[in-house]
Amino acid sequence: MIPALEKPVTYIKGIGPKKAELYAKLGISTGYDLLCHFPRDYIDFSQPCEIASAPLEEPCVVRARLVKKLAPAFIRRGMTIYKAVLTDDTADLTLMIFNAEFLFRSLVERKEYILYGKMSGNFLRREMSSPMIIPADSPDLIQPLYHLTDGLSQNVLRQNIHSVLSSIGGDIYEPLPKRITEKYNLCSLDYAFENIHFPRDAHSLAVAKRRLVFEELMTLRLGMRLLKNRSITVTGCTMTPADLTEYYSSLPFELTGCQQRAIAECCADMCRSYPMNRLIQGDVGSGKTAVAAGAAFFAARSGYQTALMAPTEILASQHYETLKGFLEPLGIKVALLTGSLTPKNKAALKEQIKNGEYGVVVGTHALVQQTTEFSRLGLVITDEQHRFGVGQRETLASKGENPHKLVMSATPIPRTLAMMIYGDLELSVLDELPKGRQKIETYAVTGKLRQRALGFVRDRLDEGRQGYIVCPMIEENDMELKNATDYAEKLASNEFRAYRVGLLHGKMPAADKDRVMRSFKEHELDLLVSTTVVEVGVDVPNAVIMVVENADRFGLSQLHQLRGRVGRGSYQSYCILITDNVTEDSIRRLKILSSTSDGFKISEEDLKLRGPGDFFGSRQHGLPKMKIADMSSDTELLQLAQQAADEIIASDPTLDSTENKGLRELAEKLFERGTEA
Ligand code: ADP
Ligand code: MG
Repeated sequence: MIPALEKPVTYIKGIGPKKAELYAKLGISTGYDLLCHFPRDYIDFSQPCEIASAPLEEPCVVRARLVKKLAPAFIRRGMTIYKAVLTDDTADLTLMIFNAEFLFRSLVERKEYILYGKMSGNFLRREMSSPMIIPADSPDLIQPLYHLTDGLSQNVLRQNIHSVLSSIGGDIYEPLPKRITEKYNLCSLDYAFENIHFPRDAHSLAVAKRRLVFEELMTLRLGMRLLKNRSITVTGCTMTPADLTEYYSSLPFELTGCQQRAIAECCADMCRSYPMNRLIQGDVGSGKTAVAAGAAFFAARSGYQTALMAPTEILASQHYETLKGFLEPLGIKVALLTGSLTPKNKAALKEQIKNGEYGVVVGTHALVQQTTEFSRLGLVITDEQHRFGVGQRETLASKGENPHKLVMSATPIPRTLAMMIYGDLELSVLDELPKGRQKIETYAVTGKLRQRALGFVRDRLDEGRQGYIVCPMIEENDMELKNATDYAEKLASNEFRAYRVGLLHGKMPAADKDRVMRSFKEHELDLLVSTTVVEVGVDVPNAVIMVVENADRFGLSQLHQLRGRVGRGSYQSYCILITDNVTEDSIRRLKILSSTSDGFKISEEDLKLRGPGDFFGSRQHGLPKMKIADMSSDTELLQLAQQAADEIIASDPTLDSTENKGLRELAEKLFERGTEA
């Protein structure tokens, strides 16, 4: 990095403290940040259309000769309209400019201009008001468009970025090693910055963009690999192979092929001399718990304890029940550590854990992680559901002698993305559901059918079943969204007067949430009205119907997760997605859910439709924010960049060589920048 680029933006010509504040709003504090504020789009002035056939009421580019300037019209004080007539020989065009006298004066009759703006009028009379205008002989025919903030205009940004570029005069430090730029045919960073902001032509722009995307993806991959290498230390918990038949035959069902494979992969990992760092990725209901229990069984046979951490108390007690059922018949004692234990009982339990009486300890993250001592901890399992962050994982270990780590995630992720997101983990995928799973009948309907849908819910409740009604998060400034609280009250006093209705939302204290969830589980409530908090893996087999309000507000993967809350028992289950947004797009999106129950397929569609930024509905993948790469469309580059990164890491695992120093800086910077949260 050259020092000039590290300085605050106020060092740049034309930027004072006021503008610096505005830039801060865009997250820009240095010259380098400004260079990395890449255009969100471009206007291509090199491809004009004919005035006569230009589409009306949409932005377009036309190229025309100025025929005549007309006399200005003074509308009122402070409002003058300047008009001129232009032609491209297919039709005439009236140009209207409000107040910008200086611009108007600069226009010259008989000269050609290129205009970008919205065409209005009709077939006989065409007009454009306040378009962007450049002379037809301008060398800059592709103009960048930036994300702005109030008080900063496109022009100001262009000028400021131009100042930065000319101040460093093509003297940018090149972070990529020469053999990489050569092998992958990448342009220099100078060229890339210059042409991403001021492209000479479409080709230069493509070349510049390719380089920057490549660099960003490669940096991401390098960062993930650095994290992974950091965690390769020696473990004091190398286990010995053991026969799993006893575990398999004690289960009330036969494990699927992929469950068995996942268990085998875990066992192999745990027999090595360095810690396992593995993710089990499986759709809702794919049976991750049985895999976790298998790994815990294996660890116990080698004399090691397992800790299983869940995000909420209710999930912890659910896992506890399951693991107890699976493991205690085999002589492995399971403990549950929760906040609701009395201090005395808690202390006693902890003492027993410390003495090694329990083979498995289940609890919430906070309890197990911070305050518990083990006699021989060998395996740490985390149930993260979809709540998954890169940074979070780093803190998990640090107990015992570098225990093995296993993470469970219920978010199916397209392969390409998984490679990136889980680049620091080994991956076991459960892509096959246990036999005999019923399909959840899913319908996408408009609000017109709401009353019928609610009637259908009542019918199920009358049969003794339970149901969920989910509405998006409470967002105060969005009146259209159904506020969960109000909505629950309305439902409770009208449509569901005769039933027991509970409310669950994200802003409730954890203890209250647990209480409500528990009474729903115990069937003290018939209907649960909730925001998305319900999606965290709670198992209530008697719940058979879910209605989702404003369903188009959710990502497909998120809806799929939500839907996984029903269909967990033997009853036919239903999911009704209500949306008042009846655009073809939103209906098409929701129809995908009625047509398939394959979480991986759904996630591919989601990625295509919404891009990775929104992938988890609320951006929870924990990856650093991308500035230019788009992991859903840049898949070819993604693979090349991964390949390049893996080559580099193979020869220099910690990026310590002089040649790779720049890359290391980039990777550290990227992960410093924070995650998409
Ligand atoms: P998830 O992957 O969503 O955490 P769970 O582990 O909660 O799934 O399993 C869902 C249900 O399926 C549980 O009731 C579990 O006992 C059951 N199950 C798990 N594996 C199998 C299998 N191979 N055959 C039949 N049922 C299974
Ligand atoms: Mg689960």
